[in-house]
Amino acid sequence: MPIVALTDVTKTYPPTAKGASSVTAVDTVSLEVERGDVFGIIGYSGAGKSTLVRLINALEPATGGSILVDGVDITKLSERELRGVRGGIGMIFQQFNLFASKTVKANIAYPLKLAGWSKAEIDERVAELLAFVGLADKAKAYPEQLSGGQKQRVGIARALAPRPAILLADEATSALDPQTTHEVLALLKRVNEEQGVTIIVITHEMDVIQTIATTVAVMENGRVIERGDVFDVFSNP
Ligand code: ADP
Ligand code: ADP
Repeated sequence: MPIVALTDVTKTYPPTAKGASSVTAVDTVSLEVERGDVFGIIGYSGAGKSTLVRLINALEPATGGSILVDGVDITKLSERELRGVRGGIGMIFQQFNLFASKTVKANIAYPLKLAGWSKAEIDERVAELLAFVGLADKAKAYPEQLSGGQKQRVGIARALAPRPAILLADEATSALDPQTTHEVLALLKRVNEEQGVTIIVITHEMDVIQTIATTVAVMENGRVIERGDVFDVFSNP
């Protein structure tokens, strides 16, 4: 069973101004993400990628279609049930979205505190994650004292803290230079291979997809116009 399965998913935003028309950001998209895969979604700005991510993460409701996460149709769940679904999905972002006023350790601990973990459990998990992302010596540092690559490694540690089955990376390397991009992608590969986390990578950069993804869907104007193995989609015999 795929870990994520979308069938004919549509998202239409109402007009944002008087006289404007509505926008169909995601248009009858169907796709399946297999458990353990690194699945890439590529497309230009405005293609609908972020909207698709927010639908999978249950941050906004779909206008139509079904979205199965781990076999459960999340379009049919209550707000309370959705909180549980969101807990099983980690997110990392282009601008890292770390709390500037919190230390690295407190940033990583944040979702665990929310989930009610004990202090001892949190300390153990944070230490494990800091070691995994190579930042054991930065536990007490603040985000502004870190490089972009280090900030994203904190973002990855925070996203992984509650042991999600899925990690959504939304333009997670777009603010980084090429060398740092490759370091972060190498870390994401380890997350996938060593921890068995399914990763969905959203990007406008072909290079990112070719480096890390095994399967890719190409989005344009809200639709998936092509999909398949990365090798097949990007080879033009
Ligand atoms: P991408 O992530 O590929 O850049 P988005 O999903 O952000 O694409 O946007 C797809 C389309 O939907 C764009 O035309 C965008 O302006 C529109 N859109 C995105 N979010 C909203 C929103 N909250 N309200 C209205 N329109 C939106
Ligand atoms: P990205 O391309 O990285 O997705 P956007 O600028 O498209 O960034 O979107 C940033 C935020 O603005 C998103 O939360 C999205 O919902 C919102 N947004 C995007 N386009 C519109 C729009 N046309 N009207 C209202 N909100 C929008």
